[in-house]
Amino acid sequence: MCHAPGRDSDSQKVLERYRLLDQYYVIAIDGTGICRFSERHCEHCLTRTPNGQTTYYHYLLEAKLVTWDGLSFSLMSEFIENPQANPTRQDCELNAFHRLAERLKKRFPRLPICLSLDGLFACGPVFLRCRDYNWRFVIVLKEGDLPSIYHEFVGLAKLQPDEKLKERILKPLEIKRSFRWVNAIEYCDSKGQEHLLNVIELHETKSADGNPQTTRFMWVSDLEINQGNARAVAQNPGRDRWKIENRIYLAHTEASLLSISTVTTTRPPKSSTSSCRWRISSFN
Ligand SMILES: [Zn+2]
Repeated sequence: MCHAPGRDSDSQKVLERYRLLDQYYVIAIDGTGICRFSERHCEHCLTRTPNGQTTYYHYLLEAKLVTWDGLSFSLMSEFIENPQANPTRQDCELNAFHRLAERLKKRFPRLPICLSLDGLFACGPVFLRCRDYNWRFVIVLKEGDLPSIYHEFVGLAKLQPDEKLKERILKPLEIKRSFRWVNAIEYCDSKGQEHLLNVIELHETKSADGNPQTTRFMWVSDLEINQGNARAVAQNPGRDRWKIENRIYLAHTEASLLSISTVTTTRPPKSSTSSCRWRISSFN
């Protein structure tokens, strides 16, 4: 689906209603895109040769503006490179993250942003980058990630029974959601940098055909969680929905964001387009 461009003010209004807590534009960064070429485009190209036909490709880190109703708009992308002899996936994606973050900040210097990231990015340098740029973040927390934070959360959550929220939806499917959270957990990263983090947990039980199934989600954030915002924080960056549907709405979205971004800026940032974004052939 492609939207016909309207006036910028109309687009701003459309985008504003998607802000998290009426304030932040949620930007998801995912290392899922693939950029393909039929000819070698640089010395770092990865190659595949199925059926004797060589394809050259790069993985991309993609920054997308995402909405609570499942839309996502590609903003910019960055090649994921292999700078070392035996890089881990995390090394490669983290390096690309910092390059992408720098470009994003330069492009939208005043835009109130909340990054939505997967667990790969739950680490000190990312927390620090967000703090430096005055960005908020909501990052998936898996049991093995940041073990000190995880154990602190599990211990403290039991001692704070008031920090809970429950909801029940009956149609079209019965869904029960139970949120709990702990704020201000101290975390010292591997470089000795201290961070104050908030953790929110969601247990979601879906009942189909009388067969209830519960899934647990956890996120770490610098947004302070309370009764009033727990649901929005957990639900808005709920990461599965916008992976299902992707929309390329780039030029107009970018123009609208720039317009919002530069409301308090005297000198608008120059356009800096990614060289590869129109050649992205697939997501996920
Ligand atoms: Zn290349």
